[in-house]
Order: sequence, then structure tokens, then C-alpha cells
Amino acid sequence: MISIVKSDSLIGGIEAGGTKFVCAIGHPPNDIQALERFPTTTPEETLGRTLDFFQNQPRLPDSIGIATFGPADVHPDSETYGYITSTPKPGWSNTDLGGVISRELQLPIVFDTDVNGAAVGEYLWGNGQGTKNLLYLTIGTGIGGGALVNGKPIHGLVHPEMGHLFLPRAEGDDYEGYCPFHGTCLEGMACGPAIEDRWGIPAKSMPPDHIGWSFEAHYISLALVNLILTLSPERIILGGGVMQQMHLFPSIRSRVVSHLNGYVQASELTYEIDQYIIPPGLGSKAGVLGAMGLTIQFL
Ligand code: ADP
Ligand code: ZN
Repeated sequence: MISIVKSDSLIGGIEAGGTKFVCAIGHPPNDIQALERFPTTTPEETLGRTLDFFQNQPRLPDSIGIATFGPADVHPDSETYGYITSTPKPGWSNTDLGGVISRELQLPIVFDTDVNGAAVGEYLWGNGQGTKNLLYLTIGTGIGGGALVNGKPIHGLVHPEMGHLFLPRAEGDDYEGYCPFHGTCLEGMACGPAIEDRWGIPAKSMPPDHIGWSFEAHYISLALVNLILTLSPERIILGGGVMQQMHLFPSIRSRVVSHLNGYVQASELTYEIDQYIIPPGLGSKAGVLGAMGLTIQFL
């Protein structure tokens, strides 16, 4: 995949998040010539700052990858490709994010979800290297998943929404759930704000021996089992703020092995599980590197 990049291509990236935007230009992953972060406010102001960032560079990039919050139209053939569609984020519904960037800068863009960007970034330069079938799941303010199948991010009718899987409750858990659409889906039970809402304490401050973490491992491990059975990923990367609780990793791994109960024959799902479900390898620039990585696939 990396070998098809033109070595002199200057690449732009936009990590379009619900709370912040990150723009970068350079030759990823190591030669990032400029990078700027700013809060996501109105579409007009935020897109204005994004355009200013690129227009103020000594040279425009050859292409720009945009890894966005959603829901978004990620189908290149669609009339509304590049749009953020029905987001609950005020003011952002039906925003032509990709179109504005592409038209104003006269550049080709690649537009995909933030989680697909993260999966591509990890595949190219992070902990997903060497795995063409990779799953990236983020557990933060929301929960979302991106998957590569044969080295390409999967799309479909819209794009996968793995954060909203329906899962059996943990025994003794009577929380009504935090998802405005489904109540007790994965995101409703396990995202950072759900933890805080249920226990009355920010996830960050919850002690490692709190019962809440075993519920958390319950929901995440069941989701992973369903995704392993559906997608058969060669590796799983778990990112997002909540996964900074490193004690969750062993707890999730052992539950996954136990749920699968030896049915899927692979060493990765038994004695090599420690190398199978792992944290991300790219640090604070992960999101924007992933956005840049989206263009590399298609150059
Ligand atoms: P976002 O999902 O908004 O892009 P993050 O992935 O950082 O951002 O997720 C933020 C969420 O993660 C917050 O809801 C917070 O509760 C939770 N969080 C952040 N840091 C930690 C931590 N160290 N331990 C547990 N939860 C955390
Ligand atoms: Zn939901």
C-alpha cells in the first residue's frame, strides 16, 4: 500500500471532530510541516479556519483526506458525497464539508469517517501494520468502529455504526442507557458519558476496582465477539479516552476468549490474545495522520 504513494506528494489532512478540528500538511507520518488545532464551532467559522490553514501554507497539498464525525455521506458516487448528513450536532446537519474544501482549494479530497481514518492510520504507520483486515474501535464520548477489509475501509448502505450494537445486559445491570436512539445499545451502556451518568463519577476518576469496569468489560467484550464473528479481523485496536484505563485490556481479552469458547480456531483468539486486542500505536496525531492516510490509499 505504502509503495504506491508518490514520494513527492504533499498531503493534507483534516480530522473533523465534534469538539475539535485538526489540520495538517506534510509527508506523513514523520514529516508534518504544519499542524493546527481549533475548536469546532459553527460550520462557517470552522470551515473558514480550515481553509485559512491550507491557504496560508507555502504550497497547497496535492490532495486532502478528511476523517469526519458523522453520520456522513462517504460514497464517492453519491450527489451528497462529502456531506455531514443528519448529525444531532447543532448547525452541522447537511453541511457540505468535503465539497467546500474541494471547491475552494481546487483539490481532490477523500472523505471518510473518523474511525475509518483511524483504522487506515494504524494500518499504515501504527499498531495495525501488516494486517489487511483490521478493526479499530474507539470508546470515548461516543463509540464507533472502522474496519479494513483487504486493506480498504468498508462502507455499505451508509457506513458501519458498530457503536450501536445491541447486546445482552450484564447481570445485575439495570441502567436505562444513554443512547438517545436505543437506550441500552453498546454506546448507551459503555461510552464515557454513560459511565459518568450511571455512576455519578467521571470515567477518568473511577477507581480500577469499581464494579463499573467489569460492566464496561462485559459490553466491550461482547461487542468484540460479535465483530470477530462477523468480520474476522486479524487484529483489533481499541482507542478513545475510556481505553486509557489500561486495566480494561486484560479484562476484555479474557472475556473474549471465554465467550468464544474455542469455537474459532486461531491462536490469536487464545494464547496470542495479548497481541490481538491492543491499544493504538499513533499518539496525539493519530486522528489527523489517519485523515492523511485516507488519501494515500487512492493515490
Ligand atoms: P472523543 O470521543 O470526544 O473524540 P475521547 O476519545 O478522548 O474523545 O473520549 C472522551 C471520553 O473519554 C470522555 O467521556 C471521558 O469520560 C472519557 N475519558 C477520557 N479520559 C479518560 C480516562 N483517562 N479514563 C477513563 N475515561 C476517560
Ligand atoms: Zn445507540
